[in-house]
Amino acid sequence: GGRSGGRWIDGKHVPAPRNEKAEIAIFGVPEDPNFQSSGINFDNYDDIPVDASGKDVPEPITEFTSPPLDGLLLENIKLARFTKPTPVQKYSVPIVANGRDLMACAQTGSGKTGGFLFPVLSESFKTGPSPQPESQGSFYQRKAYPTAVIMAPTRELATQIFDEAKKFTYRSWVKACVVYGGSPIGNQLREIERGCDLLVATPGRLNDLLERGKISLANVKYLVLDEADRMLDMGFEPQIRHIVEDCDMTPVGERQTLMFSATFPADIQHLARDFLSDYIFLSVGRVGS
Ligand code: AMP
Repeated sequence: GGRSGGRWIDGKHVPAPRNEKAEIAIFGVPEDPNFQSSGINFDNYDDIPVDASGKDVPEPITEFTSPPLDGLLLENIKLARFTKPTPVQKYSVPIVANGRDLMACAQTGSGKTGGFLFPVLSESFKTGPSPQPESQGSFYQRKAYPTAVIMAPTRELATQIFDEAKKFTYRSWVKACVVYGGSPIGNQLREIERGCDLLVATPGRLNDLLERGKISLANVKYLVLDEADRMLDMGFEPQIRHIVEDCDMTPVGERQTLMFSATFPADIQHLARDFLSDYIFLSVGRVGS
């Protein structure tokens, strides 16, 4: 991990100590009167219709508590001033903790980013990284073996997810990186070489890094596709299928896959059929609409 990162040592999570400067940079200044929370009135959650279907849907959580959430994650959720889970978060935490796959129809504003980050990070903090293959090559050929890969359609969305990931990975062993096209690859490569446990990526740039041999997907436990319908609208299906089906990605059934999409047309249904196993289908409204 980086300066504010922890370590996984001898099967134990050793979080980094708190660091005031890092907290201000990552979370903002708590006393700042200009501090703006999301501005979304999350008290109206309970009015939002949620529909969960599939075999043995786990009981949703109602509060952020540890257990079931990892203790460090809970501290970070408090630093981010999230007081209670949104509907998608209530369901996604036990779904992932129970080893299940998830197809969620949820829009921006539903809290979907926390919906995949919270369960993935909570489980990652508890179980640690997968052992890396022995032959790592020389420093300059070093490959990253991320535990979690999140694909998103645009640089803007990938950056937003990365900024949220910085909050919730604070002090942990999980080092987050972001890669996207239209920007020099050199800086992104240097960041990845310093360690990459959770990778947020646009499909084109991820493909590029896979072709260059800089990333292996063999240790992926969690695959997330965010705004899947938008990625297909943008023509990314061939790249996405190449990444998931033709490289060294952990196969369906051995990884957990979470797919988020605002809509559920035929091409998304096909992707869900091919990428997910015995999934739970969740449909949630948007806070404030
Ligand atoms: P998203 O739908 O993931 O784009 O989230 C929409 C906004 O809601 C973002 O600004 C999040 O930081 C915020 N948010 C997400 N979950 C919560 C929560 N449980 N409590 C308070 N704010 C949240």
